[in-house]
Amino acid sequence: MKRQPPVEGVCAECGFDYDAGQLHPVVTTLVRQAAEAGMKLTQAAADPGPEFVRLRPEPEVWSAIEYACHVRDVLEVQRQRIAQALVEYRPVFAPMDRKGRVSQEKYEAQDPNQVAVAIIRFAQEFGTAAKALTPEQQQIRGLYNYPVRMPRTLDWVIRHTAHEIQHHRHDIVTVLNRVSPPPKPKPEPAPEPQEPGTEAQDEPTSLDGQPVPAQQIT
Ligand SMILES: [Zn+2]
Repeated sequence: MKRQPPVEGVCAECGFDYDAGQLHPVVTTLVRQAAEAGMKLTQAAADPGPEFVRLRPEPEVWSAIEYACHVRDVLEVQRQRIAQALVEYRPVFAPMDRKGRVSQEKYEAQDPNQVAVAIIRFAQEFGTAAKALTPEQQQIRGLYNYPVRMPRTLDWVIRHTAHEIQHHRHDIVTVLNRVSPPPKPKPEPAPEPQEPGTEAQDEPTSLDGQPVPAQQIT
C-alpha cells in the first residue's frame, strides 16, 4: 500500500512544500501542473494507446485515468468548498468520498481526452476562485475531513489542492512509465548511398596527384 502523503511541511515523494511563501504563485503553478497532467494523459492515450491509461501497475495502485479523474473531481470539489466558505458561517465540508467515486463514477471507463479537457477547465476555474480571495478570506476556516477532521483555513485548502495536483501529476507520470511497453528501438539509419566514383579510391586525380574538383569531371 502507498503511504498517505503529508498535509504539512514538505512531501518527500513529490517535493511539494506547504510553507512555500505567497499563495498566488502556488495557484499559478497548480493551474500549469494540472494542464501538464491532462497533457500526459492525452499523450499516453495516443501513444502507447488508450488501453495503457487504464492499466493499474498493482491491484492497489490506481491507473493513470483513475488518478486523472480524481484530480478533476478534487479541483471541482475544492472550488465548491471555497464558494461554500464564502457564504456560510462555520462551514462544514462534506467528504468527497475519494475511494467510492472510483467505482461509482466508473473512472476506469472514462474518455481520457474528455477527462483532460475537464481537468484544464476546472483548474482554471479553481485558480480564478482562489486568486480572487482577499487575505482575510484566505483565513476563513471550514471543518475539513481529510486526513483527520479538523478546521482548516482556505489558505490551507488551496495549498492542499496544489499538493494534490503536484502529487498526482507525479503519480500519473510514474504509473504510465510502469505500465507502458518499452520504447521500440529506433531503426538504424540506412547508410548514405554513395555516388559511384566518389569513393576515395576511385577519386579521379589530376596529373600532379591532386583530386580533381567535381565540376571538372566530364
Ligand atoms: Zn506529494
